[in-house]
Amino acid sequence: MQIKNASYIISSPSYDKCPKADKPEYAFIGRSNVGKSSLINMLCNRQGLAKTSSTPGKTQMINHFLIESTRKEKAKKEYWNLVDLPGYGYAKVAQKERKTWGKMIEDYIRKRENLVNLFVLIDSRHKPQSIDLDFVQSLGDWEIPFTLIFTKSDKEKPGVVKRNVETFTELLRAHWQFLPQIIVTSATKKLGRDEMLELIQECNLR
Ligand code: GDP
Repeated sequence: MQIKNASYIISSPSYDKCPKADKPEYAFIGRSNVGKSSLINMLCNRQGLAKTSSTPGKTQMINHFLIESTRKEKAKKEYWNLVDLPGYGYAKVAQKERKTWGKMIEDYIRKRENLVNLFVLIDSRHKPQSIDLDFVQSLGDWEIPFTLIFTKSDKEKPGVVKRNVETFTELLRAHWQFLPQIIVTSATKKLGRDEMLELIQECNLR
């Protein structure tokens, strides 16, 4: 798949304010500072599309982008939405605000009928964190299709990344019969880009 254009549509404060659900939609979520904006920019080949290092504590929104893409063998343009969801796990944010975000995210994930796949970003430099494991467990309970995206793999030794990915999946295996797809990425090295775009193309074909 080749991305031909990526443009910002709108930021919505809640699920029911989101734009019309008339295109396949792919959403990105992860802890603050996991590398979400960098990954979205790398995927779309557009620096500054998603804001990097957005300050925790600022009002968080559901950000929609319109993507135009083509398949290599077919010149016809296809349109889909990319969604940048607010990060979870801001330690510095008041509990009340966290609760509001939690509801906003849960509503979007569970009710958005055109959501095809959720990309859950995990920092590959760290051992599994309970906040990520708990979130992934909820996705399983809610039967949401998702992919685990391990980020910033260039920042750690390959052996450490491998061990962190394996430990994470082993912890899931203890409860789950099927494991989600896993992609190891680096925004700076453009690692994992082809794999992610291929996955989106495959989903769009269904
Ligand atoms: P967000 O808060 O999840 O949107 O995270 P950002 O995309 O703003 O990234 C947080 C910090 O990590 C920034 O300083 C980025 O430059 C850095 N970063 C993000 N992805 C990568 C990566 O793949 N490799 C390296 N070396 N740094 C990264």
